[in-house]
Amino acid sequence: MAHLIPYPFGKLVTRVLRELDAGGAVLDLPREKIVRGPLSMLRALDGPRAAPSSNPPHPQPSASTEAVGAVSTLDWSVHMHGARAATPLGPAAGPHTQLAQNIVLGYLAGLRIFELKTVQIMDELAIPRPCIDVRTVGYNVEWSQELKLEQSLEEYVKASMLLELAAASEKLELEPGFDEFLFDMSVGYDLAGIRHERVQAFLDGMLDARATVDRLRREIPAEWKHLRELPFRTKLSSGITLSTFHGCPPGEIESISRHLMGKVGVHCIVKLNPTLNGPVEARRILKDVLGYGQTIPDSAFANDPTFDEACAMVTRLESAARACGRGFGVKFSNTLVVENPGDFLPKAEKLAYLSGAPLHVLATTLVRRFRDVFGDRVPISFSAGIDRKNFPDAVALGLVPVTVCTDLLRPGGYARAHGYLVELAQRMRDVGATNIEEFTLRAHGAATTTSASDAKANSTDARQGSTDGERSSKSAPNRSATSSPDASTASSASRVSAARLHNTRLYATSLLTNPRYTAAQNAKPPKKVGTLLELFDCVSCDKCVPVCPNHANFRYTLPKTTLPVVKLVRERDGSWTRRELAPLVIEEQHQWANFADFCNECGNCDVFCPEDGGPYIVKPRFFGSRSQWERWTSHDGFFVTRELVLGRFEGRAYELEQHGARVTFRGPGFELEFNESRLDLPLSARADAGVEADLTHLHILRWLRDTVLSAPTNYAAS
Ligand code: SF4
Ligand code: SF4
Repeated sequence: MAHLIPYPFGKLVTRVLRELDAGGAVLDLPREKIVRGPLSMLRALDGPRAAPSSNPPHPQPSASTEAVGAVSTLDWSVHMHGARAATPLGPAAGPHTQLAQNIVLGYLAGLRIFELKTVQIMDELAIPRPCIDVRTVGYNVEWSQELKLEQSLEEYVKASMLLELAAASEKLELEPGFDEFLFDMSVGYDLAGIRHERVQAFLDGMLDARATVDRLRREIPAEWKHLRELPFRTKLSSGITLSTFHGCPPGEIESISRHLMGKVGVHCIVKLNPTLNGPVEARRILKDVLGYGQTIPDSAFANDPTFDEACAMVTRLESAARACGRGFGVKFSNTLVVENPGDFLPKAEKLAYLSGAPLHVLATTLVRRFRDVFGDRVPISFSAGIDRKNFPDAVALGLVPVTVCTDLLRPGGYARAHGYLVELAQRMRDVGATNIEEFTLRAHGAATTTSASDAKANSTDARQGSTDGERSSKSAPNRSATSSPDASTASSASRVSAARLHNTRLYATSLLTNPRYTAAQNAKPPKKVGTLLELFDCVSCDKCVPVCPNHANFRYTLPKTTLPVVKLVRERDGSWTRRELAPLVIEEQHQWANFADFCNECGNCDVFCPEDGGPYIVKPRFFGSRSQWERWTSHDGFFVTRELVLGRFEGRAYELEQHGARVTFRGPGFELEFNESRLDLPLSARADAGVEADLTHLHILRWLRDTVLSAPTNYAAS
């Protein structure tokens, strides 16, 4: 079906706030993976010795914290488009920023700059499935939002309000300032589409969301009515990352960027392609340096800008941004077009988009080349093969934001972000850095003698904005010599700037000989055990829950049991024959299921399930409404209410209706009535001659109903 159905706002509020209240996992993210702020992380790393009792909202470095290993304050905050975010870490525009609950999960795990999934005028796409393959590196044939433009707007407003509600509930216990998040819009793909009135309406709705916010605030359930009057943000974003097609000519990219900054009135980041490396260098790095066998077709380079064309375009767009008082930056990088290996993604797709480890090297190489031309005056957003180990490296390069997609699709899912911030805290502590600027200065020894006042000045300077039009031109030394009123600030900023360039050169060079990015180190697919999944029972590894970016899979508990398998056959003479077969034994208490409304059949849970068949295909699939269950007749699954349960097994539809003790079981060609206490003996029966009624289905429908409806925390039960 591959069709996403957003979940009602009020029900999401209920689930998130109740689970926060309960003190356990929230949306199946384990409590210990919720990130509350940098000091909590330090405490976890070092114990109570390292941390003071409270964290100031904007910690300032002090002389006492300069010594390596004696960090007692920690600030991960950065600025983008002049606004503060509590960490530079975020999800890239993709599967993790499609539905409201995805964004909540990211927030809980410490992500703070959200690149919302790309929207475009063609909002009824038929995306081939499966569409994601991260068995080794990453491939996808994904595209833009799978929701209608109007639904996307609603999901993003819902998400923003949910984050604010979670923070305001005080159950999250965030450190002061760690609630600050940013949304960055992403639009595609050509100027005509972006100018379309429906895309413009989406943008208008994001820039002024008052109407949607006011409507949704009334949907906050009475249980939390004291939160209905929160001053929810109504300007959801001030910037757009422009996503163009692979092969989009530079003239079109430039026209769109000018339109966004000049007419729409937003800051703009242009996402650039790894093909800027040029065919010779891109293939050399991919094959000769890293050892990958993937083929980059000539067509990948055919219409993309060359590096020199891109530099000329950036120079012109910088001027255009200054002229209209907007911020401008670039993003490295888009995915890399390669020939589809054809062993997982649909063979009909000739091309696939490569991400992960090799893209990290290709994109970082481009960052270095780009900075050789522009210094660090053009802000760079980065997304390419980010993981726990290299996230701090990207931060030390002064890249904002640093976003991730492929790695969050691996076991642990959103919870992996917790590890990124552990690593950042450790690396900062190791060099005695208390904020990102200090870390930049010290990460690779660029300025081990930075004074406290320098660091403080850098910190203040950076907080004043980096991509915010005029203000950004004051913050960067190589564009601020005449505009900065404060020579010491300029000097400090100059040192940070020099450190960014130093770190970039060192890091980009090191990647070319780092074995962790080679094909040999990224060739091992997840282990399969060779057994076939069934409706009940499995290896019970629980991987399918966190690897789903949409939170579509869930665990439920079914009592261990043995079900009689009884079949009643209506004979031609009107009599009934009873056949009893070997019972169905359900051995495991924990079972796994799928919520169909959130499953777009991307295939990712199949990749990591040790058994074959795909959890999203084989495990019980629950639809959120009767209409969806009726619509997708090609898919087995269930729709459950207290009185009525609908089920489809191998394409055949069954109904269980219950009023009091009277149970009616209907199926193809039969209808049986029972008293609940005797489900082996029909009170009345009607069936066509020769029809067999399998009572196993009756038992399964009842058990699923009772189990799902008694569990307060799954979408099918809400
Ligand atoms: S349940 Fe599986 S196939 Fe469906 S969206 Fe989640 S990961 Fe993808
Ligand atoms: S369905 Fe697969 S991934 Fe999910 S718990 Fe069972 S064995 Fe693990």
